[in-house]
This record gives sequence, structure tokens and C-alpha cells, in this order.
Amino acid sequence: TYAIEIKDLKKRYDNGFEALKGVDLNVEQGDFFALLGPNGAGKSTTIGILCSLVNKSSGRVRIFGVDIDEDFAGAKLHLGVVPQEFNFNVFETVFNVVVTQAGFYGIPLELAKERAEKYLKKLDLWDKKDTQSRMLSGGMKRRLMIARALIHEPKILILDEPTAGVDIELRRSMWEFIKELNEQGTTIILTTHYLEEAEQLCRNIAIINSGEIVENTSVKALLKTL
Ligand code: ADP
Ligand code: ADP
Repeated sequence: TYAIEIKDLKKRYDNGFEALKGVDLNVEQGDFFALLGPNGAGKSTTIGILCSLVNKSSGRVRIFGVDIDEDFAGAKLHLGVVPQEFNFNVFETVFNVVVTQAGFYGIPLELAKERAEKYLKKLDLWDKKDTQSRMLSGGMKRRLMIARALIHEPKILILDEPTAGVDIELRRSMWEFIKELNEQGTTIILTTHYLEEAEQLCRNIAIINSGEIVENTSVKALLKTL
């Protein structure tokens, strides 16, 4: 089974705009995968459909073999998503942002607190645990979103344009952490419009343009053709 299997995925928004025109994409378990494309290509739409923030028009999506139309709750257990926009309660403390998320997955409070500590420490946010999240810098907010996405220890971590607003130093430590997760077996999928980012980090890559996959290959093979 693939971590993610997308077949002939189409999305037409309510205004008639066709954002996805039949996307086919397979992501293997344990992969470090980039979905690369310019602004407006359909990356966020694809991610939105994976985590059911956006309704698809047609096509099939399976997450670890589970069809999202048949068992979305089951499929979602495997997914951790770091969206582009910060969408946590800004008046909550850093610690509580992470712990609150655990409630959605029925994780017992004691375990939630243990994991919150573990991931906030790994993401260099532990000294901010009692700070209201609105006080954090952009890079810290991004790392908080990552910690929150990991609370249920998902098999797949999806990051939508993760380096937006993160400075170079922090970016490096963030990537170290994500690489480590991948080495421990988590499948990583990120979207980006920077080829360099995809090329430095990822093993496989799909290029999307105007709602269509125009290339789907290993990063090694892609670099040979350039
Ligand atoms: P769906 O078909 O999934 O229900 P909608 O067409 O209702 O999606 O739009 C979802 C949200 O995206 C709305 O809140 C809308 O304001 C916003 N939106 C509308 N047009 C655009 C656009 N061109 N780019 C980004 N967001 C948009
Ligand atoms: P990307 O993430 O690659 O920048 P998106 O998936 O956000 O691309 O958007 C793909 C296209 O769909 C863009 O042209 C965008 O304007 C349009 N779009 C996104 N959301 C909506 C919406 N809710 N309604 C109408 N058009 C949308």
C-alpha cells in the first residue's frame, strides 16, 4: 500500500475555476516527497482535499489504503497537517495549543502532556510553553504548528509551504528535525515553490502546473535532466 494514492483528482471551485484537472499521484511509505509548483498551481487545493478542508469534485484518495470517502475519520488518524495559515487560538499558551489538539484524537491528558513536552523540546519551544501563542515570532509559530500536528504521532506529516516566514537559521534546525522524523519512518510531504528546497531535502518530486502533474520522478533523475 502507498501512504497516499490519488487517482484522477479534479476540483472545480464554486466560481467555476478548475483548480485540479485530473491529478494522479502516489506517495510511497517512508518517502520524503515534494509537490513543487508556482503560486496558483493547485498545491494547497490538493492538500486541502487530503485533509478534507476542501471538497473534491471527483476522483479517489486513499490514505494507507483507506478511501477518504469511505472512512475519513480512519484515514485522518494517519495524517498530521501543517497548513500555511496559523490557525490556532492566539490567546492560548504554547503548551495548551498542543495539548488541546490531543482532545480531537481522544488522547488521554497525561499522554498528551508528555508528548507536548517531547515535541516542544525538540522544536526549541519549551522555554515558551507558558507564553500566549500570539507573542511568538513567525518562525516559532510555524514550529508550534509542527508540534501540534505531531500530537497523535501520525504516519504522514504534510507541510504546506513550511518555510514561509522562517529565517535561514531556524529553517535549518527545522529541517534537521523533519529529516530525523523521516528517518524514524514518518512519510513527509511538503509543498513548495522553491526547487532548491525540494532538491535539498526530498527524495521524490512531483511538479504541478495549472492543476496538472507535469513531472513525477526522483529528485536525482530530475537534476540529471536540468
Ligand atoms: P468549496 O468549493 O470547497 O466549498 P468555496 O468555493 O466555497 O470552496 O471557497 C472556499 C473558500 O475559499 C471561501 O472562503 C472563499 O472565500 C475562498 N476563495 C474564494 N476564491 C478564492 C481564490 N481565488 N483564491 C483563494 N481563496 C478563494
Ligand atoms: P497553490 O497552493 O499552488 O498556490 P492553490 O491550490 O491555492 O494553489 O490554488 C489553485 C488555484 O485555484 C488558484 O488559481 C487559486 O486562485 C484558485 N482557488 C483557490 N481557492 C479557490 C476558491 N475557494 N475559489 C476559487 N478559486 C480558488
